[in-house]
Amino acid sequence: MKKVYLDYNATTPLDLRVKQVIDRFLVNSYGNPSSLHWAGAEARKGIDEAHSIVAGSFGVSPDEIVFTSGGTESANLAIHGILGNLQKSGHVITSSVEHHAVLEPLQTLAQIGRIELSHLRVDTKGRLNPDDVVRLIREETALIAVMYANNETGNLFPIETIGRIARERKIPFFCDGVQVAGKRAINLGRLPVDLFSFSAHKFYGPKGVGGLYVRKGLKLKPLIEGGAQEMKRRGGTENVAGIIGLAQALKVSLEEMEREKARLKRLRDLLEERIRSIPGACIYGDLENRLENTTFAGFDRIDSETILIALDRHGIAASNGAACSSGTLEPSHVLMAMGFSEREAKGAVRFSVGRFTTEEEIHTVGEKLPEIVSHLR
Ligand code: PLP
Repeated sequence: MKKVYLDYNATTPLDLRVKQVIDRFLVNSYGNPSSLHWAGAEARKGIDEAHSIVAGSFGVSPDEIVFTSGGTESANLAIHGILGNLQKSGHVITSSVEHHAVLEPLQTLAQIGRIELSHLRVDTKGRLNPDDVVRLIREETALIAVMYANNETGNLFPIETIGRIARERKIPFFCDGVQVAGKRAINLGRLPVDLFSFSAHKFYGPKGVGGLYVRKGLKLKPLIEGGAQEMKRRGGTENVAGIIGLAQALKVSLEEMEREKARLKRLRDLLEERIRSIPGACIYGDLENRLENTTFAGFDRIDSETILIALDRHGIAASNGAACSSGTLEPSHVLMAMGFSEREAKGAVRFSVGRFTTEEEIHTVGEKLPEIVSHLR
């Protein structure tokens, strides 16, 4: 059976051009970047270069980039790093459709009384209204956290407008950029964003490595202490090969971005055409303003788990969009926030295409999916 992978928003395969660079580093540059001898210097040089490549890609300075273990750690570092400096309890504004990497640390801080939390609502298309940010801001608002692109619907949010609102009031603005990094040209030098997270495995780099952009002058309390690495903002010996892989992966992704965007959109639209032809099927999200690789579909009267299992039997990997680290599929909190019922929120299937998706694979899924849905009904 030929396997088809359509879950690129969950993770992407490693690009062989990235692997080559990692392999070379793993074998040849094994020094500890903090060591003063030649072996350390080689590893340090690699990390410094990675800082420069990533910073250059985002239009910022190398010392504004902190490498971490991934998107989740970056979000935790941004949140605890800013709120850990508060002398008294503060107020935070976030959206109801953030990834759990953002929602959970905020909820934890709210539970222990460190912060009060306000959620921005979304409409039935999953769109945010920046005017709501203005309405929710208080004297004691210490952080605004809104993602750039939603991992389930692919919706893109008005980050520039929200950032401007935050900047006018001198409130730090954290943007979870995990789903947009490598898919869009992001100039953080121009965008009014103070903190921006990214993760290598979403753009064909290795898993377990990511980063956080921290605007110069912003006071950030480290999450991991015990070393002066990353300019005292993230202790611990660096994942040298991973960091170098991240930089290479970002470079390749941005070089290929424009061509890929058009190709992926064509493949996604082709798939959506087939989905729309299935009776009782719908596509969720802001169809005019979303990532070109993502489609989030609902199939009346069938839950996503059943469809995903059936697809998997045919070698097709898709997802329900929501995290399922517990092994059971939860209803999508994004669809619930959009006003859909729990039943509908348990029914959605996310297909996300990427660099290695072919038209032939889309045709295979386009043929199998209507059969599967009709059989399950
Ligand atoms: N934020 C968003 C929007 C994501 O989609 C993900 C991963 O799915 C994360 C954060 C977490 O990133 P990581 O898997 O690198 O911890």
